[in-house]
Amino acid sequence: MYYRTKMSTVAKNNVVRMHFSVKDDEGAQLYEGHLVYLHGHGNLLAAVERELTGMRIGERKKFRLSPEEGYGNYNEELLGVLPYEVFPTDQRIDVGMVFELHTKERVLLLQIKELRENGVLVDANHPLAGKHLNFDVTIEGVRPASAIEMEHGHAHDFLEKPCEDT
Ligand SMILES: [Zn+2]
Repeated sequence: MYYRTKMSTVAKNNVVRMHFSVKDDEGAQLYEGHLVYLHGHGNLLAAVERELTGMRIGERKKFRLSPEEGYGNYNEELLGVLPYEVFPTDQRIDVGMVFELHTKERVLLLQIKELRENGVLVDANHPLAGKHLNFDVTIEGVRPASAIEMEHGHAHDFLEKPCEDT
């Protein structure tokens, strides 16, 4: 249930339901759909939460994020050639496919850019790195978060099963 009160603006510890789309500067649609999230807990990009703060139910807003505010600048140093041996042999590999590379610190997602004679050209940049992101957002609902949602740091709408306390 969504509360329609004068308090219903996007603010910290409110659960927000919105519809939004994101396009790059070439007009290609990267995402379109609904989202429910807990505001002010780092669930969305910081720049997106900043733009949404103070919006009211029914309000629509368009804004554009720089790559720095989005998923970072494109870094040429994250391109590299890996030998064919490191890829699973039971699977066909092709341009556009994404593989996980587990390093000591983190999991990198590598997208295959080119199949070369000497190896596979892979790209560890985020798929949206270097892109301006053009948002079109409509706020559909706002309600105060429950104590347990605030503790967990996320909204509990549409969860298929109750979350584990961790
Ligand atoms: Zn939870």
